[in-house]
Amino acid sequence: MPPRHLADLDPEARRAAVKELGLPEFRAKQLSTHYFGRLVRDVAEMTDLPAAAREKIGAELLPHLLTPVRELACDDGATRKALWRLHDNALVESVLMGYPDRVTACVSSQAGCGMACPFCATGQAGLTRNLSTAEIVDQVVYLAGVAASGAVAGSPPRLSRVVFMGMGEPLANYPRVIAAVRRLTSPAPDGLGLSQRHITVSTVGLVPAMRKLADEDLSVTLALSLHAPDDDLRDELVPVNQRWKVAEVLDAAWSYAARTGRRVSIEYAMIRDVNDQPWRADLLGRLLAGKLAHVNLIPLNPTPGSRWDASPKPVEREFVRRLRAAGISTTVRDTRGQEIDGACGQLAASTVDGAEAR
Ligand code: SAH
Repeated sequence: MPPRHLADLDPEARRAAVKELGLPEFRAKQLSTHYFGRLVRDVAEMTDLPAAAREKIGAELLPHLLTPVRELACDDGATRKALWRLHDNALVESVLMGYPDRVTACVSSQAGCGMACPFCATGQAGLTRNLSTAEIVDQVVYLAGVAASGAVAGSPPRLSRVVFMGMGEPLANYPRVIAAVRRLTSPAPDGLGLSQRHITVSTVGLVPAMRKLADEDLSVTLALSLHAPDDDLRDELVPVNQRWKVAEVLDAAWSYAARTGRRVSIEYAMIRDVNDQPWRADLLGRLLAGKLAHVNLIPLNPTPGSRWDASPKPVEREFVRRLRAAGISTTVRDTRGQEIDGACGQLAASTVDGAEAR
């Protein structure tokens, strides 16, 4: 694990930590105001701290966790991908997406991923390690700073949403992800002050963790990566289905919806001739009918070496039509960041060294 950072700590632990450094307690709030309130991540810029204290605080509470390797932009600057090197040389990526009415950060919760979904680039290399709470939060604070600088043309300057849809399975790094959500949603200066409803935690369907999440008293949006309505196919597309079947995972989703009153987002990557048949749309419609659910279809983003392709548009339209006819609210996600390998399922930072050497 990386060194301890302010963002790992709740406000009480921050006060204890500054006291341990021999500093007065009010420094904790001052640091939090800089970091969460003003998005200042570097202690050198906190010039209202006495110079001697600054050095100590930098080393003990604000170590550099994320070293930028490179940043890429596309979609006329509305999509930006940042590649980071962590203290142990693990690589992760984050994506910032600007829309006319909002700015969304897509963050990684693990370096790599152990879930091995065959259509996802991150899944191919396996899991390197869990990220710490601060490594997650710092991605968001950095991206919020980019948004605040006005770099995302045509979008508001305030980052308003965070989706845990970058690298990793957030519910496999449960305590750190939950702590990160608390930092993101605590009012400033304790945290970033984002709305819980504007945080989306996306999962392959780790049923016990989904049930635990329902007990956290957090009204975050839960996204479930379903991708197939039948166990035969889902066993292949989302291997964890061999452990928790479609019926169980949907049951956990409906419990979450009942507990929180929040509509669950059902994610479904449209893969040509694999999961896009009309009968699968109808089966999905029957599974979701009358439930607090929304279907988000994702045109498959091609990953290197994959034998799979996105569904043709007419096939996608028919799938949407059938779901809607069954009364299911359905949208097709716009594909952002495809040409910078920053789209869903394309984050595979571990391959970048080779790319850089080219
Ligand atoms: N592990 C979590 C979150 C990360 S992926 C999860 O699986 O939900 C975020 C979303 O992108 C998931 O729905 C995932 O299935 C989807 N995805 C992965 N690879 C993709 C690809 N190549 N094209 C489109 N969507 C993909």
